[in-house]
Amino acid sequence: MRPRVVAVANQKGGVGKTTTAISLGATLAAYERRTLLLDLDPQSNCTAGLGLRPSAGEATSYDLLLGNVALAAAARATEFPFLGLVPATPDLAGAEVELVGMVGREFRLRDALAGDALAAYDFALVDCPPSLGLLTLNALAAADGLLVPIQCEYFALEGVSHLMTTIEEVRRFLNPALTIDGVLLTMYDERTRLAQQVADEVRGVFGGLVFETVVPRNVRLAEAPSFGRPIHAYDLRSRGSQAYLELGREYLQRTEAADGR
Ligand code: ADP
Ligand code: MG
Repeated sequence: MRPRVVAVANQKGGVGKTTTAISLGATLAAYERRTLLLDLDPQSNCTAGLGLRPSAGEATSYDLLLGNVALAAAARATEFPFLGLVPATPDLAGAEVELVGMVGREFRLRDALAGDALAAYDFALVDCPPSLGLLTLNALAAADGLLVPIQCEYFALEGVSHLMTTIEEVRRFLNPALTIDGVLLTMYDERTRLAQQVADEVRGVFGGLVFETVVPRNVRLAEAPSFGRPIHAYDLRSRGSQAYLELGREYLQRTEAADGR
């Protein structure tokens, strides 16, 4: 079975990309799918959220993008079974600049993941930075699927049309096979009418692409990264944990059916 590369992207910051990458990644791993998290954000929240901090000289996503190391050397095991990580450091911000002058600058990640490089995994989730720059373009060019978290707040759909235009351009020029795996409503607060209105609006725009599973606003999800643990290892009984377990089931149904797994 070919591994599925999934970009978790939305150029808005603070919408739940990193939380979703870590939590869905941990869910897929809990379901015994060999999962790689690839931190492609210089803020390195995904790396820190797993309690890791690469020391100098350790290979990171920066080295992977620039072709300094192969995937096997950049990926490391975590303390959680079936879950691997390619970490990031703030140095990655430099890659965005260095890539500009390089040949095939949008395809660096795709090439790093090509061939048998990913054979050890069933899924690779790429946590994208909050921009549509070269790092995100590399993720979109390398991805089979795209997962878009949308925060249930005012201005939720702001910027989404820009994201959709970018996806069209990526399909046209970089990656014709890119599909949208799903749109995920995050930080849903059922006590507010606003959250319901935003959810309705997003479903109106994206229809069946929106996952039925909605991630509630849950303080345990916000706390987990400071303990360096995915939500399931931090508080399995929390609503946040349960929502991402449910999302994982829905996600596997969607993608494994589509991939004929
Ligand atoms: P992004 O990667 O898109 O910038 P994050 O996943 O880092 O977004 O989320 C932004 C902030 O909101 C973080 O502090 C995170 O812990 C918190 N957060 C994310 N999802 C939830 C949630 N469902 N409930 C409560 N807090 C959340
Ligand atoms: Mg993030």
